[in-house]
Amino acid sequence: MNTPVTSILALFAERGNSQYGFESVSQLEHALQTATLAQEAGASSDLVVAALLHDIGHLLHDLPDDAPDQGIDDRHEVLAARFLNTYFKDSVTEPVRLHVEAKRYLCTTRPKYLELLSPPSVQSLALQGGLMQPEEVATFESNPYAEDAVNLRIWDDLAKDPEKKTAPIEDFAQAIEQGLKQ
Ligand code: FE
Repeated sequence: MNTPVTSILALFAERGNSQYGFESVSQLEHALQTATLAQEAGASSDLVVAALLHDIGHLLHDLPDDAPDQGIDDRHEVLAARFLNTYFKDSVTEPVRLHVEAKRYLCTTRPKYLELLSPPSVQSLALQGGLMQPEEVATFESNPYAEDAVNLRIWDDLAKDPEKKTAPIEDFAQAIEQGLKQ
């Protein structure tokens, strides 16, 4: 029987080997590294699942890897949130929905953050709206999941290490199950 957990594992098995943008890790490696960094930081189980699934939107569309070169923002955070919201609690879905806004927020409020971004991430930032206006900063900060989204974003930006070893995705199955709506 297809459950959300088996569907997600199947999606990563089928499409997780695709390259993560122009970074030197695959989508699956990037997802596992982001989740592992969340675990290492002592994040809640739901936030670890959010970290694991934050880029699932990239696996749900058929746009090419070089979409940003063509001036296309794939809006992967919107696709992901729509998919996740069907099955998962807000504590999983909301940090994912906000993770692109969190990049804009971090670059706006911590000027050094922009220097840490990889070139593809700088390129997509412009397509995603660039730096925030003061009222956008205030709106973002008022979201109850803003802090989770910022932490997720920091792990996301670090999860591009071709050498980092992680547990297999199956080890996260129980946490994924626990993140589902009751
Ligand atoms: Fe990511």
